[in-house]
Amino acid sequence: MSNYEPIIGLEVHVQLKTNSKMFCRSANAESAEPNVHICEVCTGQPGALPVINREAVKKAVMVGLALDCEVSEYSKFDRKNYFYPDLPKGYQISQFDMPINGKGKLGKIGITRAHLEEDAGKLIHPEKGNHSLVDLNRAGTPLLEIVSEPDIRSAEEAKQYLQELQNIMRYLGVSDADMEKGQLRCDANISLRKIGQTKLPAYKVEIKNMNSFRSVEKALNFEIKRQTAMLDEATTPAMETRGWVDDKNITVSQRSKEESQDYRYFPEPDLPVLHFTKEYLDEIKRSMPELPAQRKQRFSSEFGLKVSGALDTTIAYKELGEYFEHVATELDEWMDSDGIPDQERDKYMNLSANWVTGPFLSAINERNILPSDSSIEEENFAELVKLIGQGRVSNLAAKGVFAKMFATGEDPSNILDSLGLQQVSDESVILAAVQKVIAENPKGVADAKTKGEKSFGFLVGQTMKELKGKGNPQKINEILKKELLS
Ligand SMILES: [Zn+2]
Repeated sequence: MSNYEPIIGLEVHVQLKTNSKMFCRSANAESAEPNVHICEVCTGQPGALPVINREAVKKAVMVGLALDCEVSEYSKFDRKNYFYPDLPKGYQISQFDMPINGKGKLGKIGITRAHLEEDAGKLIHPEKGNHSLVDLNRAGTPLLEIVSEPDIRSAEEAKQYLQELQNIMRYLGVSDADMEKGQLRCDANISLRKIGQTKLPAYKVEIKNMNSFRSVEKALNFEIKRQTAMLDEATTPAMETRGWVDDKNITVSQRSKEESQDYRYFPEPDLPVLHFTKEYLDEIKRSMPELPAQRKQRFSSEFGLKVSGALDTTIAYKELGEYFEHVATELDEWMDSDGIPDQERDKYMNLSANWVTGPFLSAINERNILPSDSSIEEENFAELVKLIGQGRVSNLAAKGVFAKMFATGEDPSNILDSLGLQQVSDESVILAAVQKVIAENPKGVADAKTKGEKSFGFLVGQTMKELKGKGNPQKINEILKKELLS
């Protein structure tokens, strides 16, 4: 048991999906060829003037609303001055004291602010020669910086927060928020305090270079250990920025905070103050897509799914949830038209949730494709669930059918017929087989009559043999019981 608790705050940068850049008409797009999406504005030519991208502002407001932020009535842009070769103007247009979004929250974690700014270009360091190259395709593209309060208390909680944030960006359609691709980037501030204390520690350490959810979790756990060891020896960790080194699983010191620069923020004189009217905000609120929490509520009420791991999985992966919804809708229609009773409906819905989040999710992950790119049409998926639920195919055989459906896109009934896997659930057929087995095995029958249901194994096996292995075991058991014990 540790005597300390971690105090963690995260700074997240999200690349917004827009057609053009934040302050010019150059395309907001990647390119293998450097410096093709550039113009006077994003390369910082003298006299070029920026114009605010309306779509980027709208997307920033949407994120603010989704995170319960107070959207400011007035907001402005500021210049953040620093020198670096990937920043041609010598300053970054960002927001200092009047961000678009003020305080909000994501679950238990407070959001301090979420503001708009422009991204920098990229430096390329060729292996040969002692020079660097500059690619400005990314320079001036819109970024949303989301700053959390220091409310996070473990590495696991930090990872969860990031995953939820990513999910919200995808539900809103404002960013693909893929960490490996740099569309969602995260820096962390972390310090430790003695359990029971309420004041924030007098120091904090900033961690950079974490390029996946997993590396965020590993880097924070490494820091917790490192800082615990120092505090145990009565040393206060230095205020510094440390970088995560993924292949060594350690953080290393990059620069001390004392050297941190003064950015000399001042209001951007070339851009007007933004004014968000009530009408503008109402309009965006009306057009907001469904968010994870809302979808969870809807799925549980529409499809009767109990709060379960399967439901959470369909919510945490937007496209999987959409696929599941189509399957569930198909099933719903069938159950309506066949008058399936309520208690049965839950069985079918849970079966479909388990198959979508189980075998189907593994199969698409293995091939690294989206749910909608799989060859199984939702209608066929629903039919497979129906066949399993009706006992017309055993669970084991269903796995084979599923694999074939995934490979070929064929419908499950055809596969069952062609593979001869159709399970026999027809009671008259099973009854005939059971009666034959009873007539031929007097000793087994006598055994079963004295010892009861637990000694049915032999007779079930014989009946199964009679039905060439395709009998529904549950039905065979039921019928045997009826014939022998009642
Ligand atoms: Zn441009």
